[in-house]
Amino acid sequence: MDHTIGVLALQGDVREHLAVLARLGEDAIAVRRPAELAAIDGLVIPGGESTTMIKLAKIFELYEPLKARLHGGLPAFGTCAGMIMLAERIEDGIVGQDTLGGLDITVRRNAFGRQVDSFEGDVSMTGLDAPVHGIFIRAPWVEEVGDGVEVLARVADGPAAGRIVAVRQGSLMATSFHPEVGGDARVHELFVDLVRRARAERTDETKRD
Ligand code: GLN
Repeated sequence: MDHTIGVLALQGDVREHLAVLARLGEDAIAVRRPAELAAIDGLVIPGGESTTMIKLAKIFELYEPLKARLHGGLPAFGTCAGMIMLAERIEDGIVGQDTLGGLDITVRRNAFGRQVDSFEGDVSMTGLDAPVHGIFIRAPWVEEVGDGVEVLARVADGPAAGRIVAVRQGSLMATSFHPEVGGDARVHELFVDLVRRARAERTDETKRD
C-alpha cells in the first residue's frame, strides 16, 4: 500500500467510512490528533453535525493544522456535514460558523427543509456508470459553485430536482448524501483515485527537483 487515508474522527459516522475504505483494501486510520495528520495522503470528513465538528476541531487543536494541510493540497472527501466543512461559504449556518474551506462553493445547511429533511433516492454521478443510492439526512445542497468546480451530481426529481449534491474541485470532493451507508463503495473508489493521482503527481515533482 503506497498511501494512507484518514477519517476525521471527532464526531459522526467515522466507523462506516473506515469500514468502506477497509473493504476497498485501503490502509485507513482515524484522525483525532494533529500528529496523525502527518501520516495521511487523503482525508474523509464524515457526516454528523458540522457545528459540533468544527467546535471539536478547535478544541482538539486540529482546526489550524488541518486547514493548512487542505490548503497545501491534501485530497479530501466530505460527506454531508463534511461537505459543509469543506465549503468556503455557508447559508443557514449558525452565527459565526467557521469552515475549513477549500471548495469554492456555497452550501445551504439543512437545505431540503422540514418536510423532506431525510430521504433516499438514486443519484446519477459523473464517473459512475450506474446510479448510486443516495441517503440524505438533514443534508445540505450546493447553492452556488465557483468556476473551477465540477458538478458531479444533481437531484433527479421531486421538489429539489436539479439541486447540486456532489462536486469536485482539484483533489477535493464532496457529496450531500452518505455513500458510506448502504454497502456501495464506488464513490469512495472515486476518492481513492483522486488520492492516488495526487500522490503520483507529488512523486513526479520530487523526481523533477
Ligand atoms: N445538518 C447537519 C449539519 O449541519 C449535517 C447532517 C449530516 O451530516 N447528516 O452539519
